Amino acid sequence: MKTVDQYNFSGKRALVRVDFNVPLNERFEITDDTRIRAAVPTIKKILSDGGSAILMSHLGRPKDGPTDKYSLKHIVSHLTTAFGTEVKFATDCIGADATELAQSLAPGQILLLENLRFYKEEEKGDVAFAEKLSKLGNVYVNDAFGTAHRAHASTAIIAQFFPTDKMTGYVMQAEIENAKKVLDNVDRPYTAIMGGSKISDKILIIERLLDKVDNLIIGGGMSHTFSKAQGGSIGNSLLEADKQDLALELIQKAKDKGVKLYLPIDNVIADKFSPDANTDVVTTGQIPDGWEGLDVGPKTIELFVDVVKNSKTILWNGPLGVFEFEKFAGGSKAIAEAIVEATQNGAFSLIGGGDSAAAVNQFGFGEQVSYVSTGGGALLEYMEGKTLPGVAALEG
Ligand code: AMP
Repeated sequence: MKTVDQYNFSGKRALVRVDFNVPLNERFEITDDTRIRAAVPTIKKILSDGGSAILMSHLGRPKDGPTDKYSLKHIVSHLTTAFGTEVKFATDCIGADATELAQSLAPGQILLLENLRFYKEEEKGDVAFAEKLSKLGNVYVNDAFGTAHRAHASTAIIAQFFPTDKMTGYVMQAEIENAKKVLDNVDRPYTAIMGGSKISDKILIIERLLDKVDNLIIGGGMSHTFSKAQGGSIGNSLLEADKQDLALELIQKAKDKGVKLYLPIDNVIADKFSPDANTDVVTTGQIPDGWEGLDVGPKTIELFVDVVKNSKTILWNGPLGVFEFEKFAGGSKAIAEAIVEATQNGAFSLIGGGDSAAAVNQFGFGEQVSYVSTGGGALLEYMEGKTLPGVAALEG
């Protein structure tokens, strides 16, 4: 797979698929611009070679064509600041306006196209739509790892119109390289920490990890299904009733494969799902009726932290509790701190797949772990061993 480092963009119009699907508040201000900042090095490389960049992205999930709320016009001034140069805007991603603006771009200039998902052809992977987009540039760069698991027009289908001039941007390249570091030739002990709400979302990755890790730590909402399956009382805690057999199977599989499986031994419980709930700490499996487990307890933290600190490779996916509420952020915070310490002692740590990345950034540890993935679902699918259409399209 070619990367931007292997290409000279001088005189080229680079069509770059970025992931600018950023969160906006009700005043259309960007509340987290991580994805924009991440794209800066790729764009700078193109411009400093003497090329120009045409940026294409989606924003949100518009259902019925153009919708003001999902217009990428809201982020133009932020982009101008982030790139340190004026960013032009095309009010459509295909058509006369986009074509004219793209063709009049001078080296060093940037053009942002309107939201790709204003056309349903984008998500359908429509070939004719992809071809129209492709005409805007003469080289294709994909830097949107977060959508690489989708065979959309701009993320995969378009690549066929650039048989040789297609490549990864720095974000995509780093995401793949770092994901590989927890899949092959890892330093041991290797510990995976899986949390979040549902086992059903994580089952494939957990099964794959059982072939790779030495320790598997399970926390978060999904741990209650394990507890219930083993005969515990879980009160109103999150339960996937139909996944109890699966939980028992995973426990057995871990045993068979010699993987040490760590489940919570105590929980912080709440009398309602609320930041100001009354709380208590109980042994796992003994959650009273009317209460729900919203975080791991102090004994569990001690157990988990010890395992993490002694690891040489660490993958963390999914918070150990409802970290969005201060009272239930303790488990996730303690794990994040342990990961930072292990990293300082030479471990490789990858945080990724949605909310654990948000948790690490919320605690201010984003810079102190080896890599925070922006990939979400794409990272999970990559870890599960699936072929990502956006990656496959750049190969060959
Ligand atoms: P996921 O997207 O599957 O990684 O799940 C992340 C979400 O799981 C976060 O919003 C957490 O608040 C939530 N979560 C973590 N632990 C619990 C728990 N014990 N009970 C309910 N929700 C939880």
